[in-house]
Amino acid sequence: MNKESVVAKKKFGQNFLKDQSVLRKIVEAMPKNDHKVVEIGPGLGDLTKFLVDVKSVEAFEVDTDLCKLLQNIFKEEITTKRLHLNCGDVLQAWKSTLVDEPYDLVANLPYYIATNIILKALADPMCKNILVMVQLEVAEKFCASSGEKVFGSLGIIAQSVGKASIVTKVPPTAFDPQPKVDSAVFLIQKSADRSDKEFEEMLRVAFSQPRKTLIKNLSAKYDKKILQEVFETLELTLTIRPHQVDTNDYHQLYKLTRSLDGRRDTRGSDKQTSNAKQTK
Ligand code: SAM
Repeated sequence: MNKESVVAKKKFGQNFLKDQSVLRKIVEAMPKNDHKVVEIGPGLGDLTKFLVDVKSVEAFEVDTDLCKLLQNIFKEEITTKRLHLNCGDVLQAWKSTLVDEPYDLVANLPYYIATNIILKALADPMCKNILVMVQLEVAEKFCASSGEKVFGSLGIIAQSVGKASIVTKVPPTAFDPQPKVDSAVFLIQKSADRSDKEFEEMLRVAFSQPRKTLIKNLSAKYDKKILQEVFETLELTLTIRPHQVDTNDYHQLYKLTRSLDGRRDTRGSDKQTSNAKQTK
């Protein structure tokens, strides 16, 4: 099989990036450091070619046909260990970290699992920067600021670990086959490792009904009286909507609610202990 005879497989989200100017823009936007590069889904190797020129690359490709093709195209780079090619599903290979050294993720991601991959990379302590092509709508969610309509849990999670920004928007004509949606390359520069599943769970509840007030959504999980106290402390109005609160306030809200909730639990258990004493 050669590159020209490859038929794109929809089930693997294969839209090959053909526009050389976009490929160059991706490489130019790479943070300058000596980290390894991880590429998820090298496909026909067009981006990989640029990457191995500047960095040593660890790549993961699920499609066995493409893997064979890549082994041929990059024979020399694989022999000299400039490229390490893993054939298989990256999500299966991903435990708490994807590789055992600091790395930057640079990829034109398969769109059907793009958000999942980015969330895993954000939580992976070895991943230092994320530079990826995704559906424009997804990129905008990760890069949104408080007050914008699309601001939600993805923007807050990204801002909690670093800075997110759009590098360039990309039209469908840059790909073969062309996707039905617009795309964008965006960059998250991580400056902290702050991954907290409970915080993410609070965000899920906070944005469960985006048009309702934040306090109404949060009441599904937390005591209303505690929430009222926390809102007052943070000077948040009771009518505020989830997208109007900024990332810092979400972290404060999380901390305060947990500590007040904890105090109430302790008081509750003190009460139970003294009741138990009385009945003895
Ligand atoms: N990097 C190439 C490019 O820019 O032209 C291909 C990008 S294409 C959008 C996505 C690539 O991810 C495909 O090669 C696809 O086979 C691969 N892929 C899809 N699911 C994957 C998975 N679970 N693990 C690893 N690779 C995957």
